[in-house]
Formats: sequence, C-alpha cells, structure tokens
Amino acid sequence: MAMRDWRRVALEMLTGLVFARDPGCPLCGRPGFPGHLCRACMEMLAELGRGMVVCEKCGRFCPGLREGSLCRECVEEPPPYIKARAVAPYEGQLREALHQFKFFGRKELAGPFGEVMAALAAAFFPLRPAGVVVPVPLPERRERERGFNQAALLAGVIGDILRLPVFKRALVRTRETPSQATLSRGQRQANLCGAFAAGEDSSAVAGRNVLLVDDVYTTGATASECSGALLAAGAGAVYVVTLATGIEIQSKGPPPAPAEEQMGKAHTGAADCRSCE
Ligand SMILES: [Zn+2]
Ligand SMILES: [Zn+2]
Repeated sequence: MAMRDWRRVALEMLTGLVFARDPGCPLCGRPGFPGHLCRACMEMLAELGRGMVVCEKCGRFCPGLREGSLCRECVEEPPPYIKARAVAPYEGQLREALHQFKFFGRKELAGPFGEVMAALAAAFFPLRPAGVVVPVPLPERRERERGFNQAALLAGVIGDILRLPVFKRALVRTRETPSQATLSRGQRQANLCGAFAAGEDSSAVAGRNVLLVDDVYTTGATASECSGALLAAGAGAVYVVTLATGIEIQSKGPPPAPAEEQMGKAHTGAADCRSCE
C-alpha cells in the first residue's frame, strides 16, 4: 500500500516534470488535477469557514451570531433576495486566488471555482421549476480592459453543471461607478443606487427563480441592487451565490430576532433604497 502510494507520488512528480505545461491543480499547481482543485485545496476551502455561523439571509460569516438568525444589517434593512450564500470567507489563499483570477487573467480558475459554487447552489437554490442563472455585469469599460467578466465566466460553469440556462445580458450597468473598494457600506449603496437595469435578455427572467452569480459578496450593495432590478423585470425570486464573502463580527447588544420572524420582511429594491432619496 505504502509502496503504491510512493509510486503514485513519484509518477505524479514525473508527470509534472515531463508535462511541464500541465497546469495541475489550478490553485496550488499540484500535478494530476488539470482543471480541478486537488483534495488539499478543497479541504483548505472547507476549512476557511468551518464552525462559523452564517447569517441566514445574506450568508456572511458572523462569529457571535446565533445559529439560524439574521445579522444586524439584514434585520435593519432586509435585502430583496431570498438568500445569499458563499463558499468561504474572503481570506488567505482564497483571496489571493481570486485576485489571480480577476486581475492577472487566470481565467482557468473559473472552472474549479464554478464547480464548488454549483455544489453550494444546488443545496439551496430551487432548480425547478424554471431556474435561470444571471451574472452580475461589469461596467462595459472595465470588462473591455480586463477582457472578461469574472461573474459571467463563473455563471457559465454553474449553468453547465446545474443544467440551467445562463442569461448574461439579463442585467446591464446603466452607468460607470467609481471603484467600491475603499467605500463604506452607505457609500457603496449610494454609489450603486440605480446602477443596474434590465438588459436585452431580461424577459427570460420573468416568473423564474434567478440564481444571481458574483465572485465576492462584500456589503451586499451589488447583490441588493441587482436583485431589485431583476424583481422589477418580473423575476419570481432571486437567490445569490458567490465564491467568497466577508466575516462580520456581530457587536454586542440585544440579539436580532430569529430568522423566521424576519425572512418574511422584504426590501423592495431600488424603489425604496434610502440612498435614492
Ligand atoms: Zn491544489
Ligand atoms: Zn445578513
């Protein structure tokens, strides 16, 4: 057995040497996993969020939150989507890998990232009846500069795996918005308010369950604005899946109400966005 393991490792190393261009695991480069994450990387992803409670609504990792509750932000201003979930916190190796994917053009990472997102989405998104997949659009100029929209690549992989149609033009950006990176939650909302609208494919979402796809969920401003636009276009319900999301430490104070009391309250999207006033 041990001998067989040793031979397998040696063979993998040789394969890696001979096929120096074999990209191996797209995350760590370990040979023998072209296009798929190796077991160690899968475990690394699972380990990132292990044991952390997530907000029942927005899916952010919330240490200190009671299981099955909503975070403070979701109680105060319920997002218009049904629920959002992310594979792991936006930290460590995953954060680095996402930067490689987005900013260094490592498009091959869309495959394994989309695969783990599809597995996650399958657990909470009602595939029937009539689900569709919609990526968050990038501003046109940014997509031209980058050469691709990372959310659209992920949506393509997820749609293939879950056998759902993908509508890349269901949403459009109505205007350029300054980068979100350095903005606070309130500033992000104001920055994005009305920045998304129904696109040429929007009729495809009418009456459908929509799986909205993005790479990172930060404050939720993007997910909420896009969900509002999809609902305005007639979508039946919106669910959100991202690869990563933040860790939101819940401050002390009276505990938020249990999820079942809060999930019914719905923010109606852009129409009652405070930043529009
Ligand atoms: Zn790996
Ligand atoms: Zn929340």
